Amino acid sequence: MLAKPLVGILALQGDFLSHCTMLKTLGVAVTLVKEPYQLQSINGLIIPGGESTAIIKQILQNTNWQLGFARIKEIQMPIFGTCAGLILLSKIVEPAQFSLGWLDISVLRNGYGRQINSHVIYADFILANQIHHIAMPLIRAPRIIKIGPQVTSLINKDNEIYLVEQENLLAATFHPEITEQTYIHQYFLQKIKSFILIRDGKM
Ligand code: GLN
Repeated sequence: MLAKPLVGILALQGDFLSHCTMLKTLGVAVTLVKEPYQLQSINGLIIPGGESTAIIKQILQNTNWQLGFARIKEIQMPIFGTCAGLILLSKIVEPAQFSLGWLDISVLRNGYGRQINSHVIYADFILANQIHHIAMPLIRAPRIIKIGPQVTSLINKDNEIYLVEQENLLAATFHPEITEQTYIHQYFLQKIKSFILIRDGKM
């Protein structure tokens, strides 16, 4: 039988607790990752929204975080970044700021405006051959202005891209964790299950 995956949520800053609550409603084993060594025991990582500068600063100040991140990149662990988490994964960020650069997209920070311009838009997301009309809260959200050839847009509307995937990476400019809808998290859990099956040579 497939071992139950353990999902880590990076808990340095931001709305990590909302992801935690959502995953618990799905019956998933979750751990809040506050120390680099915890990256070793998880099967997937969520990088939450918040303030990307604050999260990056802590990673850059600690070599153990950098080593931990290098390892999860090497083993191609599934990572789901939301909002600031997407910024952290992006290749090109404007205004310029350090990022991991693993996801071949270019983003504008706060590309839809400031806090006061926060809003919810709706679009369709397909999960298990079913179309779901989902709410996408945009809070000082990054705007994706370019995607590379390896990147798939999973949700787009009116020429804007909101959810992308590139191999083990999934990233949303919005905050699914503060809605009642668990579809995007379910999609991420599928990626983790495939990752474990491939790792254990069963797929
Ligand atoms: N604009 C923020 C940043 O640059 C992200 C906002 C969010 O995560 N809701 O980090």
